[in-house]
Amino acid sequence: MQSNMTVDEEIMKAGITHAGASAPDKNRLDEILKRAKLLRGLPLEDAASLLHTEDPEHIRLISEAAGEVKEAVFGPRVVLFAPLYLSNYCGNDCLYCGFRRSNTTARRKAVSPEEAVEQAKILSKAGFKRIILVAGEHPLHSSIDYLVKVAEAIYSQTDIRILHINSAPLSVENFRTIKSAGYGVYQCFQETYHPETYSVMHPVGMKRDYGFRLNAMDRALEAGFGDVGIGALLGLYDYRFDALATIAHSKHLEERFGAAAHTISVPRLRYAEGAALKEPPAPVSDIDFKKIVAVYRLSVPYAGVVISTREPEAVREECLKIGASQISAGSSVEPGGYGKTEHSTAQFSLHDNRDIVEMAEVIARAGLLPSLCTACYRNGRQGAAYHDTVISGGMHDKCTVNAVLSLKEYLLDTGNKSEALEGAVRRFTEALPDNVRAGVQNKLAGIAAGDRDVHI
Ligand code: SAM
Ligand code: SF4
Repeated sequence: MQSNMTVDEEIMKAGITHAGASAPDKNRLDEILKRAKLLRGLPLEDAASLLHTEDPEHIRLISEAAGEVKEAVFGPRVVLFAPLYLSNYCGNDCLYCGFRRSNTTARRKAVSPEEAVEQAKILSKAGFKRIILVAGEHPLHSSIDYLVKVAEAIYSQTDIRILHINSAPLSVENFRTIKSAGYGVYQCFQETYHPETYSVMHPVGMKRDYGFRLNAMDRALEAGFGDVGIGALLGLYDYRFDALATIAHSKHLEERFGAAAHTISVPRLRYAEGAALKEPPAPVSDIDFKKIVAVYRLSVPYAGVVISTREPEAVREECLKIGASQISAGSSVEPGGYGKTEHSTAQFSLHDNRDIVEMAEVIARAGLLPSLCTACYRNGRQGAAYHDTVISGGMHDKCTVNAVLSLKEYLLDTGNKSEALEGAVRRFTEALPDNVRAGVQNKLAGIAAGDRDVHI
């Protein structure tokens, strides 16, 4: 379905919907949750009502429904990934960020393509096969040419299977260039969709241009990126508007390009050394944070909902039960930060320092299935093709099988003998439908015998 509305108009509509919204009574809540369980997403009016909900019992019901929807769409799997920070040079001055240009005491570093390869090898050895590259915005230290060289170097010299990228918005032509270098998901957060707050938070530099950033995903998709990742930085402005605008942004992409946002990240503002902001102007409590995760899941059921190590351990673990489907582990947010003793400036402080081994076990102990899967990128299942598979209910079994296969490979390659993880491979294989199980057992035997990158 083609939409005639621009993304700016969709965001304006979200503003009007937010302004007129109120918490639902029990009958309306039941209706909304019933609609959400059809796995077709929710109209903005419903999402706005859920975001206005304060009643703890109602929030419990929202969270429970979100857990069910996540299970129905993606099954028990939770994808693990890690960021690789390339550069903390930046020409912008975002008030909240440690990389801002007026942080004169920052220890600046941009890794060379060779150093990026070393960093990627460390992550690969730990078990990650998908990583996301992150950089400040700088004409020299994060140029297009540099991003292409880094991708070429990592793909040719490591066994990383897919690189995603979180970088400043580009022109259509530059998006085309980095897409052809092999980047999978293009990710960029609007930070806040509220223009006046955006303007205060971004006083100078390229990032000052709200519209150029807001339209970045349209340009990325026009340039051939199948998958894009969006998000609002929670803590800058009223979360009920910013979360609703994020949902509206995804709806716009779905209507215009036939695929909702591939991922919705849920970054919450953290203290950053050298940032101008010492406290969030609009703090988001843990309860509200979890409500946002659940509402994203119900409103955009096909999106990967991504929780980073900005969040405390307990919050991350609870998010796994209420809709989160991807989680980072063992993250460093400073360029060259893996395996190094000399430190450059980190972007912000982290809450959860557990590594991939610990996080995988936490996921398994929660009765879920840790996944190191990259199958969709290996099979060209991206953009509208991915979206159609999810909508038809086709990802549930695929994700479960690919999680089992990738987890088995991880255990063998890292020598991890965790009984919890071996048990998860066994249990989830046994629980597969009869017509699938034997094929998967064959594939597992192949992996034990040395096959790699096995997926469906
Ligand atoms: N420089 C590019 C940009 O701003 O789009 C690339 C990504 S930036 C390095 C990654 C994201 O980190 C930002 O989009 C922002 O949402 C988030 N971030 C920045 N400072 C933060 C802080 N103090 N706490 C939590 N997240 C923060
Ligand atoms: Fe630069 Fe991005 Fe940090 Fe802003 S958030 S100062 S653009 S690295």
